[in-house]
Amino acid sequence: MDFSKVPAHLWRDYNWQIRNRIRTLEELQNYIKLLPEEIEGIKGTQGLYPMAITPYYLSLMDPDDPQDPVRLQAIPRAVEVDEAIQKKGEPDPLREEGDIPGLTHRYPDRVLMTVTTFCAVYCRHCMRKRIFSEGERARTKEEIDRMISYIKEHEEVRDVLISGGEPLSLGNEKIDYILSELRKIKHVEIIRFGTRLPVLAPQRFFDDELLDILERYSPVWINTHFNHPKEITDLSAEAVDRLLRRGIPVNNQTVLLKGVNDDPETMLELMRSLLMIKVKPQYLFHCDPVKGAIHFRTSLDKGLEIMKFLRGRISGMGIPTYAVDLPGGKGKVPLLPNYVLEREGDRLVFESFSGERVEYTIDEV
Ligand SMILES: *Cc1c(COP(=O)(O)O)cnc(C)c1O
Repeated sequence: MDFSKVPAHLWRDYNWQIRNRIRTLEELQNYIKLLPEEIEGIKGTQGLYPMAITPYYLSLMDPDDPQDPVRLQAIPRAVEVDEAIQKKGEPDPLREEGDIPGLTHRYPDRVLMTVTTFCAVYCRHCMRKRIFSEGERARTKEEIDRMISYIKEHEEVRDVLISGGEPLSLGNEKIDYILSELRKIKHVEIIRFGTRLPVLAPQRFFDDELLDILERYSPVWINTHFNHPKEITDLSAEAVDRLLRRGIPVNNQTVLLKGVNDDPETMLELMRSLLMIKVKPQYLFHCDPVKGAIHFRTSLDKGLEIMKFLRGRISGMGIPTYAVDLPGGKGKVPLLPNYVLEREGDRLVFESFSGERVEYTIDEV
């Protein structure tokens, strides 16, 4: 995709990237020859699951590859509104919607705040696809204050996860307000942002004012969402580097997606590339049964096969926790390949990373 005519100072400008998002079939056709199922998809998802793609993210696509992983994540296909696919999924399988708009309190010590429905790119596999049709709306100050009051009243909350939509699409002033209010609460220890901007519009982090704010309210952590090695570019690496230099750790959550990254070699390359930019792979999520995104789901065996493949081929730092989010808001559970072949009390037989049978006896003193 050729954007070489865009001057560098504009290409590096987050607001330019957002202003120039590709939102219509006609605009997209200027850049890429669309497949029939994409044309049908863009038309069929209008108003339900809209499209938006930053020029930057679009530039990562190979326009000649119908199965390009960036393309599959960003351009709607007819399958999203296919009747059988629609029937299988649920709008909110993890029951995030609760009494206070925008707040999910599932684990005793952690809350999830969703502060806007806006995103730079509407990922086709989004777990919160249900909010796409609400239009692009940030929570009002009253709504934010209500969430903050709830957190104030619940002393068991130590960790606040701010997500969206794209939470860092809010203006700096609003981000500063939320962080300063949260930091007034003594029992809040960790603040995390779930943001995909390092992947979709890394230019957001070229703004020193934003970095000043994030640094001021330390410890602030970033959880981002790289799904494919193609998404690791000079610009995304620069965004991460700027965060790390301000003492903001960056962890990654990958979602296992059919056709995008459900392949051991691709996943190995992704995890290695993440370590190279000093991002810690935290989770590999099994794709949730979300209405309109169910076609991205793989088998659990596929995830376990990938986990088994990673062990022994990359540093332990590069191995994420494979997890399933249980339906009905029951929380995340980790899954591991089986390494215990036999067990009789203290006598075990393990399978090593290279597939050897290894006996192991525990002699307690
Ligand atoms: C995933 C999630 C969290 C955070 O879980 P971690 O395992 O700490 O990353 C918190 N609240 C909700 C509702 C979640 O879905």
